[in-house]
Amino acid sequence: MEALRFQVVGEAFKKKPLDVKAPSERPSEYFGKKVFNREKMYKYLPKDVYEKMIDVMDNGARLDRAVADAVAAGMKQWATENGVTHYTHWFQPLTEGTAEKHDSFIEHDGKGGMVEEFSGKLLVQQEPDASSFPSGGIRSTFEARGYSAWDPTSPVFIIDDTLCIPTVFISYSGEALDYKAPLLRALHAVNVAAVDVCHYFDPAVKKVTSNLGWEQEYFLVDEGLYAARPDLLLTGRTLMGHDSAKNQQMDDHYFGSIPERVQAFMKDLEFEALELGIPVKTRHNEVAPNQFELAPIFEETNLAVDHNMLLMSVMKKVARKHGFRVLLHEKPFAGINGSGKHNNWSLSTDTGVLLHAPGKTPEANLRFATFIVETLMGVYRHNGLLKASIMSATNAHRLGANEAPPAIVSSFLGKQLSELLDHIEKADKDDLLAMAGKQGMKMDIPEIPELLIDNTDRNRTSPFAFTGNRFEFRAVGSEANCASAMIALNSAVAEALVEFKKRVDARIPEFAEKLKGTGHSATFHAIIDVLREDIKTCKPIRFDGNGYSDEWVAEAEKRGLDVEKSCPKIFERYLDEASIKMFESLGVMTKKELEARNEVKWETYTKKIQIEARVLGDLSMNHIIPVATRYQSELLTNLNHMSVVFPIDTADKLSARNKKIIQEISERTSAIEKGVEELVEARKKANKIADEHEKAIVYHDKVEPYLDEIRYQIDKLELIVDDALWPLPKYRELLFIR
Ligand code: ADP
Ligand code: MG
Repeated sequence: MEALRFQVVGEAFKKKPLDVKAPSERPSEYFGKKVFNREKMYKYLPKDVYEKMIDVMDNGARLDRAVADAVAAGMKQWATENGVTHYTHWFQPLTEGTAEKHDSFIEHDGKGGMVEEFSGKLLVQQEPDASSFPSGGIRSTFEARGYSAWDPTSPVFIIDDTLCIPTVFISYSGEALDYKAPLLRALHAVNVAAVDVCHYFDPAVKKVTSNLGWEQEYFLVDEGLYAARPDLLLTGRTLMGHDSAKNQQMDDHYFGSIPERVQAFMKDLEFEALELGIPVKTRHNEVAPNQFELAPIFEETNLAVDHNMLLMSVMKKVARKHGFRVLLHEKPFAGINGSGKHNNWSLSTDTGVLLHAPGKTPEANLRFATFIVETLMGVYRHNGLLKASIMSATNAHRLGANEAPPAIVSSFLGKQLSELLDHIEKADKDDLLAMAGKQGMKMDIPEIPELLIDNTDRNRTSPFAFTGNRFEFRAVGSEANCASAMIALNSAVAEALVEFKKRVDARIPEFAEKLKGTGHSATFHAIIDVLREDIKTCKPIRFDGNGYSDEWVAEAEKRGLDVEKSCPKIFERYLDEASIKMFESLGVMTKKELEARNEVKWETYTKKIQIEARVLGDLSMNHIIPVATRYQSELLTNLNHMSVVFPIDTADKLSARNKKIIQEISERTSAIEKGVEELVEARKKANKIADEHEKAIVYHDKVEPYLDEIRYQIDKLELIVDDALWPLPKYRELLFIR
C-alpha cells in the first residue's frame, strides 16, 4: 500500500497537458449548438407552434397536447440529425446532483420492424421509478409513483447521444419531490409581487425576472492521488492530513498563471459549456493552491440553476478526461480556503430596468430604494431560514471558518447605500419630497450617479453583500443546488413586497386627503412613509464590520439574528411558523412538503456523518495504526541493537529520542483506537433513534466531535512516522501537484 502513494505521485508529476483543439467556428457560432433554443425552434417548428411556444416560455401560457406533439416532432427531428437515439427526463431530486433515466426513441412499428418515435406525451410527462429518490415519506412505498413533467422554460439539450429534457419531479398527489418545482413557484411569486410594486412607478411593466449569476469554486486533484485517498473518494473531503508547510500564505497561486494542465481542462470545459448554451465567461485561480473558479454571465434564475447543475456534471466528466478529479465539496482540506458558490442575484423588468441598480432620476432612485429596502426586509425577517437554505453537512465545515461567510446572515451595503438609507430614515419627511411644478416629484435623495455605488470597499466577510447593482449571496456552498437558496431568497423578497404593497395602498387615501390641492403624489408619500418604517425595522440585518470577529457573534445575538451553529438545528427554521406561513401564502410549498423535505435533510445529514465516521474508523484501523506500529517496531529493533553495541548508559542516551517517539506512537495509537471504539458506540446508540430530527442532532452532538479528535491524533502521527511508510498522499502532494 505504501508503494501506491509514491507510484501515483511519480505518475502525476509526469503528466502533460492534453492538447485541446478549439472548435473551428467562433464561440458566437457554436454557442448553444447542442440546445433546442429559440433559433432551432424557429427552424424546426411550424410557425404557429413556434409562436405558441414563445407564448408558453415568455408568458407562462398553457401548452395543449397538439402543440406538445408538434414540438416533440420538431425536437426529434433536430435531435436525430445530431446523432441522438435516446431521450431522458432530467430532474433535480432532493439528493445532490441530477437524475435521469434514458429511453430510446425506438418503438414497434406493428409490422415486425421498428420506428423512431417521440410523442408530445413522452415529452410532457413521464413516470420514472421514483421509489429510490428521497421523498421524506410523501410517497408511501405502496404508491411509489412520482411524475416528471416538462419545464418548457428551460430548453432541452443534447449530451452525447441523449436528448435531455429539464423536468420538475412531483409526487402522485402533486407535492414537489425536487428543487425545480418550488423554485418555479417562488419565481412566479416574486414576479407577481414585484410587478405590483413596479406599477407604482411604471404601469407598463408586465414581468419581473429574477437573475442569477453564480460563481463556481472548485479544487482539482490529480486522479491518481485521488484514488490513493479513500476518504476523498468516499466522502469528498480529506478526513485527515497535516497542514502542508507551505499552503496559501504567499497568495502565489491566486496571482500566478493558471497551471498548464488546468488551463487545458478549463478550455475543454468551456467549449462543452458553450455548446450547451452556458455562457461561461470568467476563469481564474482561487486563493487556495489547486483551487479555481468559473463564472458565467448571469441568466434568468431557473435557467441559471439548470446550467449550474449541468456544468457541475460536465466538469466531473471533463476533469477525468484530463486526469483530474474535481472536488466540489465545500471544505476538502482543513486549514485552507473552502469553496463556495456566490449567488449574484437581482430583479429586472421586461421594460429593461435593473431594480437593484440606482437610477438617474429621483423617481428611479425611490424605486431603487424600495427594492433594496424590501430585499433587506425579506432577508431580515427570514435570516434564519436563509441560513437553513444554504446549510448542509458539507457546507457546515466552511461557514464560520475564518475564510468564508460566518454562520450568521447579515447584509453589507457599503458606505453610500448606507448613507442613502440613513438619509431617508432621518430626514424630515417633507424635506424628502418637494413639489417641482410640472415635472412632478422632486425628491431630496442625494443623486446617485451611475456606477457611483462603489464596490471598492467590498466586505469579503459578508454573507449577503450589495455589490453595485445586485446582492451577492456568498454563503451558498460549492456543491449545493443554487435552487435551495433561490427558493428561500425569492420567496422572502416576494413576501416583503406583498406586505409593502398592502401597507402602501392602505396609506394612500390618507395622504391623498392630506395632500389635496398640493400636487404632491400621495403614492410616493405613502411609499416613503413605509420605507422609513422598514429601514428602521430591518436595521439589525445591516452590518458592515468584520463578520469573523467574536464581537459580531455577541452583537448579532443581541440584535435578534439567528446565531445557531448546529446544522440539524438550523434546518428547524424551515418549520418555523413564519416560514410555513410565507411559503404557503405564496404557494411555494405546503407545510406537508416542508416537513417531508426536512426529513430528507436530516436523514442526509446523518448519512453523511455516518459515512465519514465509518471511513475514518476504517482508515484508522487499517491504514494508520498498522503503519505507525510498523515504524514503532523498527525503532524498537534499533533500540535493541543500540544496547548490544553500546554500554547501557551510552545506549540510553543515544536512544532517548527514539524512545520518546516509541512512546508517543503508543499513546497516539491508543488514543485513536479508543476514539474509534467510542465513535462506534456513539453511532450504535444514535442509530437506535427512530426520529430523523433527533437522530441528526445526536449525530451532530455526539458522533461528529470524534472525527476531529481522532484526526488530531492521526495528524500528529503523520509528523513523526517515517515518510516512506506513510500510506496516504499528503497535503503538499494533493495541493501542489497539477
Ligand atoms: P466578482 O467580482 O464578484 O467575481 P463578476 O463581475 O465576475 O464578480 O460577476 C460575478 C457574477 O455576477 C457574474 O455571473 C455576473 O454575470 C453576475 N452579475 C453581474 N451583474 C449582475 C446582476 N445585476 N444580477 C445578477 N448577477 C449579476
Ligand atoms: Mg463575486
